[in-house]
Amino acid sequence: MIGKILIANRGEVALRILRACREMGIETVAVHSTADASAMHVRLADESVCIGPPPARDSYLNTAAILSAAEISGAEAVHPGYGFLAENADFAQMVEDHGLVFIGPTPEHIALMGDKIVAKRTAVELGLPVVPGSEGPVDDEPAARRAAERLGYPVLIKAVAGGGGRGMSLVEGPAGLGDALRMARNEARLGFGDDRVYLEKFLARPRHIEVQVLADQHGNAVHLGERDCTLQRRHQKVVEEAPSPVLGARERARIGEQVAAAMRRLGYRGLGTVEFLWQDGDFYFIEMNTRLQVEHPVTEMVTGIDLVREQVRVAAGKPLGFSQDAVRFTGHAVEWRITAEDPQTLTPRAGTVTAYHAPGGPGVRVDSALYAGYAVPPHYDSLIAKLIIHDVDREMCLRRSERALAETVIDGVPTNIPLLRRILADEAFERSDYDTNWLGRLLAAAAT
Ligand code: ADP
Repeated sequence: MIGKILIANRGEVALRILRACREMGIETVAVHSTADASAMHVRLADESVCIGPPPARDSYLNTAAILSAAEISGAEAVHPGYGFLAENADFAQMVEDHGLVFIGPTPEHIALMGDKIVAKRTAVELGLPVVPGSEGPVDDEPAARRAAERLGYPVLIKAVAGGGGRGMSLVEGPAGLGDALRMARNEARLGFGDDRVYLEKFLARPRHIEVQVLADQHGNAVHLGERDCTLQRRHQKVVEEAPSPVLGARERARIGEQVAAAMRRLGYRGLGTVEFLWQDGDFYFIEMNTRLQVEHPVTEMVTGIDLVREQVRVAAGKPLGFSQDAVRFTGHAVEWRITAEDPQTLTPRAGTVTAYHAPGGPGVRVDSALYAGYAVPPHYDSLIAKLIIHDVDREMCLRRSERALAETVIDGVPTNIPLLRRILADEAFERSDYDTNWLGRLLAAAAT
């Protein structure tokens, strides 16, 4: 087994990984920027190494500093968490070249799924249903026009290297295509250093449903059910739940088994999430994430399986400790992402937390690195806490969510808690009658 793990991340996910390591008797090494010197993950780790100044490119993305920290501390493995270097195939390769274990899939599989066109082609080969789109990248306007005519408007222009909800633009009709294409390529070049774009049919009212898979290095793969991440703002997830309120047990088993079989064929190892849009009963693959996801706790709540522990076990070469038949789904879980943001503009805000009280009671889990006196730095993601609620069914889970959100105190920095409570109070949300654009429409209506 692995004796010491370097956690190449910060915030709540660094704590999450640390907790799993501690329970497994594995020593931990935290890395941090100078802005995070007094962060909770640094305080709780067995050892810590400063890897650079505040900007992420100089610290949490500084591969040389991170590998040196692993070397100096004698770490045997690196856990990348999510974001930062988690889906950087070159980093995974460097980790392995240094004789360390990368807690994640092979660099080849990360690269394969990192290119959205190759990922889609692979999904087709693996027998998964995909969103209709252009054959490959569209190089010029005539090619884009031909593809759009074939797909039918509206279409979505997507960056091949896009991610995090960025690099997508909607084209309603032929008149807007030329300008949108030029802008999308420009933005893709500036944002991702790769100006290739492709077209996809725009689904008008989809839900976002993703399947969690876990595979070992011995050819075994199981699915751990789905998460419904339909509640989004600007293509970014805000609230996630498991199971999806729109799927029945048979549909769940069918898509889950299809994904697990695809992973066995691919020879995939580790945790992975296969993301689909779902509309009128049909699934359409959009992408695969080759890492632990922000929303993984809802799966842990309904299955009782510690995903980080399993991730470390399979990275160490152990076979899966359970079969598909042993995976049981109990009750309902919802995750509320709490971000530090301005309530008017909904943009990230930094500041010092003056008072903090986390909710408790049965079925309440808080994943956060907050404490009173903590200064939320302006340099990183605005996610400061995740409230994960579990109960016997969705209705009780929502009531418990309201109780727990009302109990949460975070003073000193504004948060999106009022927005989360507004979502919770909405009848359409309660009935689960919404699509990925619902929250955007709600906010736009409130603004006028
Ligand atoms: P990213 O890698 O940036 O997260 P995804 O491809 O996973 O991008 O898509 C993120 C979100 O964008 C989806 O959950 C969905 O809300 C929206 N989206 C993506 N593709 C389509 C599509 N073809 N039609 C409608 N909405 C889409």
